Amino acid sequence: MLGIFSHFNKLVCLIILLISASIATYAEDGLEISAVRLGESGGLTRFVLEINNSEKPRVFVLANPYRVVIDMSAAKWSASDSMDGKGVIERFRHGLFRDDVYRIVLDLKAPAVIHRSFTLAGKGGNSPRFVLDLKPTGDAAFKKQVASTSKMRVPVRKRVTTSKPVVKKKTPGKRMVVIDAGHGGNDPGNLGSIGVHEKIITLKIAKLMRDSLNATGRYDARLTRSKDIYINLAERYRIALRLGADIFISVHADSHANKKIRGATVYTLSEKASDEEAAKLAARENKSDLLAGIELSEVDDDVSGILIELAQRETMNFSAQFAELLVPEMKSQVRMVKNPHRSAKLRVLSSHEMPSVLLESGFLSNRQDARMLNSVAGRKKISLAVRRALDRYFAQLSAMQQ
Ligand SMILES: [Zn+2]
Repeated sequence: MLGIFSHFNKLVCLIILLISASIATYAEDGLEISAVRLGESGGLTRFVLEINNSEKPRVFVLANPYRVVIDMSAAKWSASDSMDGKGVIERFRHGLFRDDVYRIVLDLKAPAVIHRSFTLAGKGGNSPRFVLDLKPTGDAAFKKQVASTSKMRVPVRKRVTTSKPVVKKKTPGKRMVVIDAGHGGNDPGNLGSIGVHEKIITLKIAKLMRDSLNATGRYDARLTRSKDIYINLAERYRIALRLGADIFISVHADSHANKKIRGATVYTLSEKASDEEAAKLAARENKSDLLAGIELSEVDDDVSGILIELAQRETMNFSAQFAELLVPEMKSQVRMVKNPHRSAKLRVLSSHEMPSVLLESGFLSNRQDARMLNSVAGRKKISLAVRRALDRYFAQLSAMQQ
């Protein structure tokens, strides 16, 4: 009996071993995009991805602006990043859209239809390829295609289904600060003059800010994203609401055609932009969801109309109060722009339930700013300024509440 049992055990072990080995190989064999090519011939624009399996991506188009979206399973990108557009393709972006979806967005110069799209199995030492051919078309035909391809859209996954504040799971005596690293995944943000994307810089700043706040023991600081993944704007403040945030800080880095312009700016929400630059900034930052390849109607369910609410006005006062404290603290650490407290209609700040600011930590288009933001020393200065401003803000708040 004993002999049979031990035999049986060995067999079970062997099967488990074989199964886990195959799972391990599968994980290692996840989708990899190793090359990207653009070409033009016979009036068609061809977009090719070299991949390591014969996966068929989901392809759909979106209007305003004209875009083609290619969704694949979570992938590793080892292809070239910078490439000039060709034919109808102006440029493309890529990145993690969801934990299980890798998204590539092609920005089109003009409307075009998907003439054909197919995946070729790898043969004779060649890797499998996904091929997409685009053919110029008119606006009406493009719009028809928006409807006909809409079934291919991956739904925007909402982590938080309610915008109502949920039961606060806060540590008693600690202030909850939610830090939002701007952009991420297939929305890279600005490309800095030193070749580092905004999404990478903002995540590094946010992480250091979180750690320096948590180290004080006075704060419970959390992030909206801790890796390079896209999160839509409304979802970002919903995460903060779910966490019961006492304050929400969205971290960004700006860009300007004039490379001499540098310095940080603190933005708060307002119905009307404080100046023309602020309005342009809002237009740039609010584009995040468009750049990531979604339609605003998919996520924008509770933003409109709340700006006039009274509750909003009170939070706006608190936001402004924090901004007024953050400006001098930032000024003592890094360079700031003229009139460093500005306001604009920023979608990521559109929650009326907690004070919120957006910190443009500097200009990535300026070499000195970009180097500062890309250095640990620079990021430490920003984190210190934010920590000191938060200390002063919450001290004032406590004094008012006594
Ligand atoms: Zn930004």
